[in-house]
Amino acid sequence: MPNEPDRGFHPNFAEMHADTAHIKPLKVADTACPLNAADPDRLPVMETFYSLQGEGFHQGKAAFFIRLAGCDVGCVWCDVKESWMAEGYPVLSATEIAHQAALHPARMAIITGGEPTLYDLRALCQALHQQGFRVHLETSGAHELVGDFDWICLSPKKFKSPLKSVCQQAHELKVVIYHRSDFAWAETHARQVTPACKLYLQPEWSRRERMTPLIIDYIQQHPQWELSLQLHKYVQIP
Ligand code: SF4
Repeated sequence: MPNEPDRGFHPNFAEMHADTAHIKPLKVADTACPLNAADPDRLPVMETFYSLQGEGFHQGKAAFFIRLAGCDVGCVWCDVKESWMAEGYPVLSATEIAHQAALHPARMAIITGGEPTLYDLRALCQALHQQGFRVHLETSGAHELVGDFDWICLSPKKFKSPLKSVCQQAHELKVVIYHRSDFAWAETHARQVTPACKLYLQPEWSRRERMTPLIIDYIQQHPQWELSLQLHKYVQIP
């Protein structure tokens, strides 16, 4: 969780938790996995789990989550900072991951991170499709997409702007509201996605009591947006 500065996830943790740090770009170590560059079939996997999608358009649906390790974005409020460094996690083949996924009945697989677009995901998408999965991607949009995805959730971060090409491919835009200035920032990104893209505002978890009423009021005034809550946290599932 973000409010635990003694866990030592990143050397700049204290600086990153300064009040204004969330609007500064942060330098995070290059975490790309050299194994994937040499062999796109293999990916560093921080964890996999079977749960419900807690956010956005597919909220409440059963899904198999594949959390890849490695992120070069560095959000202050990141709740999976242990995913930032790829080293130390098992490096699995796409086939192994897809076989794990197929042990469960749902046929929705969600590739998340970390920042999964650090990697070439073509082999993983292909392996999952062969097992009958719809493949969903959750990304900040910081890197070009390399893979065949059925659903792309773009959640842009201030620390590394999304690529225009990713904005154009997104099926849903999910903006985390940490500060009231983030509404204007959300509108900036809404202008970059296609008209068909679903628009969601989601309170940052540690500020949900302060931000949720502001989001509700904003959506009432701007009904093209919808509310996304982190349902999985409310019901205490992964
Ligand atoms: S992009 Fe995601 S994983 Fe990376 S720092 Fe931000 S919230 Fe954490």
